[in-house]
Amino acid sequence: MNLKEVDVLFTAEEIREKVKELGNKISADYEGESLLVVGILKGAFVFMADLIREIDIPMEIDFMSVSSYGTSSETSGEVRIMKDLDFSIEGKNVLVIEDIVDTGLTLNYISKILKQRGCSSVKICCLLDKPSRRRSPVIPDYIGYTIPDNFVVGYGLDYSGRYRNYPAVCILKPSVYNND
Ligand code: 5GP
Repeated sequence: MNLKEVDVLFTAEEIREKVKELGNKISADYEGESLLVVGILKGAFVFMADLIREIDIPMEIDFMSVSSYGTSSETSGEVRIMKDLDFSIEGKNVLVIEDIVDTGLTLNYISKILKQRGCSSVKICCLLDKPSRRRSPVIPDYIGYTIPDNFVVGYGLDYSGRYRNYPAVCILKPSVYNND
């Protein structure tokens, strides 16, 4: 990790503990049931890979990839599906895994379309939540950390395609994006 570019917010070890806690809670809540875990690409892939190994109930997994219309600072709230689920979700308990909930526009849209497809339940699990930025009323069911309005990278999260491989969640220093 290049510490000239980032400040560590949560270390790999802290995240490991947090992910275990989340996995235990999810396993207890869904005891006796089965789950379809849906990861939102690309950001959630690292978190999801760790989380599913801490969940001790039968599950299937699938992925969706979405992109927002407009720039990231001025998104219209409309979301385009770039890659849809491979399987039907009818009658299933769906747990959506997201890296970070920011304005909530993406997850609000995704939850709506998943509910329209006749699943039994839809819950949301995110590693990070930035409630101060919310524009759409999304309340995740499982939250790793609530964070202030900083731009974070690492543990799957990128800036311009970089930093996804950093093992920690880090705040990107403004000098990095001001120089771009
Ligand atoms: P929302 O629709 O909630 O505003 O968008 C959530 C998406 O925005 C996340 O899945 C992520 O791709 C991106 N995002 C929001 N905040 C951050 C951040 O601090 N860092 C990074 N890397 N992506 C973010």
